[in-house]
Amino acid sequence: MTATTEFRYVSYTQEVIFGAGSISRFPELMNRFPWKRFILCTSRSMRSKGQVAALEAAFGDRLLAIYDRVQPHVQDTQVAEVLDLARESNVDAVMGMGGGSPIGMAKAVGFQLDLPIIAIPTTYAGSEMTAVYGVTHTDEFPPRKVTVSDPKITPRLVIYDPVLTLDLPPELTASTGINALAHCIEALYSKTRNPLSTAAAVEGVRHIHNALFDCFKGGKKINTRSEMLLGSHLAGFSLASASMGLHHGLCHVLGGTANIPHGIANSIILPHAIRFNADATAPQLLPAAEAMGISIKGDPPTEAIERMRQTIHELIGSMNLPQRLRDAGVAQSDLPQLAQIAFQNRTVQNNPKPITAISQIEQILEDAW
Ligand code: NAD
Repeated sequence: MTATTEFRYVSYTQEVIFGAGSISRFPELMNRFPWKRFILCTSRSMRSKGQVAALEAAFGDRLLAIYDRVQPHVQDTQVAEVLDLARESNVDAVMGMGGGSPIGMAKAVGFQLDLPIIAIPTTYAGSEMTAVYGVTHTDEFPPRKVTVSDPKITPRLVIYDPVLTLDLPPELTASTGINALAHCIEALYSKTRNPLSTAAAVEGVRHIHNALFDCFKGGKKINTRSEMLLGSHLAGFSLASASMGLHHGLCHVLGGTANIPHGIANSIILPHAIRFNADATAPQLLPAAEAMGISIKGDPPTEAIERMRQTIHELIGSMNLPQRLRDAGVAQSDLPQLAQIAFQNRTVQNNPKPITAISQIEQILEDAW
């Protein structure tokens, strides 16, 4: 592993509570924080699983508004609706419960109204830890997802309750779990990695590797779900404290423009991004390979990383996730336009291995197609 000799990072004030049943601590928490009037952003599945009713019971008349229709990739039209609802209800805090989309919605609304944000993640996407959100601009053709970054976007309170993930269906478990793994991989080779992001990323890989497949196979075991959620917390921490590269930038474009679910985009692209970057980043990725139980001794680093890439590729396949863009509904004729958009993407351009020509991205997309 190469030592980092210079670094800079920003840390944010967050309270993080982790543990089975921690959602039941809300009444106690509400006495410690000054917030009295809440809006909840969530999705239909949370309502049907009874999670919304549980919050209604805990918050009583302090829960003034509920928006339970948040769609994937946070549409600008929905943000406008929730902003109106939050203003009408005169709330003083915004809660997001669900995957990265409801949490992204809570961030967008909280940030624009200058209100604190509370995040209760129920997938492994990791948005709860970061100071950034994306909104899809639907009035553009093709639609484009635009990110906003500001320290104030970081959720002030994060509640991780593995019980909420027991019902996460196998495909979402698998795909958002690979999203978490991708945070760790890109944090390890990030241009802005620092000792904390690296430590979190390596431990994140270890826990995700231990727990993800078991969660996919039999999601109801609380110990395995706890380990996976811990892995995704560490992954989210590393995502928050180091800038991302090619993989995240490409997934962002595939989500916003081709409307591919975020976790699925991650599952298709991750092995390709690792391969593209291997010659420039293999030494940084060795601790991840080691955390996955892959021998890193003897061979050149690129060979160990190729074995890690293959292991990840097989893990993705064993969880029945799509592994080609064509299986996610992308037409081959769309690839040049997607490559063009991705070439201008800031995160793509932040890749540790420079991307100097659109043809490099087109080649990755062709390989992934
Ligand atoms: P999502 O939030 O779009 O949710 C996908 C589906 O999962 C939805 O249908 C939802 O109802 C369902 N779901 C969520 N939790 C469930 C549960 N426990 N049981 C059953 N169903 C459940 O998907 P996601 O992958 O969590 O998040 C992706 C979005 O988050 C993308 O827009 C991505 O760009 C964004 N994101 C942002 C960051 C960030 O740092 N800002 C990080 C990661 C992802």
